[in-house]
Amino acid sequence: MGVVYYGVKSFKKVYGPKGDVKECSFCHKAYQETYVKFNKWGHIDFIPLIPLGADYYHFCPVCFNGDKCIKEGKKEAKRIVKENTPVTTNLVPRGVHHVAEKTYDLYLDDKNSGESFPISTGMKKSDYKALKKNRFYKKIEEVDA
Ligand SMILES: [Zn+2]
Repeated sequence: MGVVYYGVKSFKKVYGPKGDVKECSFCHKAYQETYVKFNKWGHIDFIPLIPLGADYYHFCPVCFNGDKCIKEGKKEAKRIVKENTPVTTNLVPRGVHHVAEKTYDLYLDDKNSGESFPISTGMKKSDYKALKKNRFYKKIEEVDA
């Protein structure tokens, strides 16, 4: 005899920045948005068994303000994540060497305009790791400054 755990588990997948360029209502920067898809599964003893659909969220790549995609937005998000459009922006963290400790700056590179601007600067490694985790970034190219 044992305890049987059941419930809903979700798996996330990050897409983007992708799709049309949109102006953010918070920071007013116009960029493609980052999309995050959460696949929901009903599980028994943490073994996923029943697919329960997916939730989509869209975020501004700069200030990370965003929302859950609902109704028409969800349909659009589904279409956008399937599209194979090349990204026009790139997030690049740069290591900066100080005397005492290494800090990190996160930059957004715009491949269209060639513009590059900082999203967050002077972060400690732990801050940078937390930001990466909170914003679901998996792979970002690291450059030594
Ligand atoms: Zn924004």
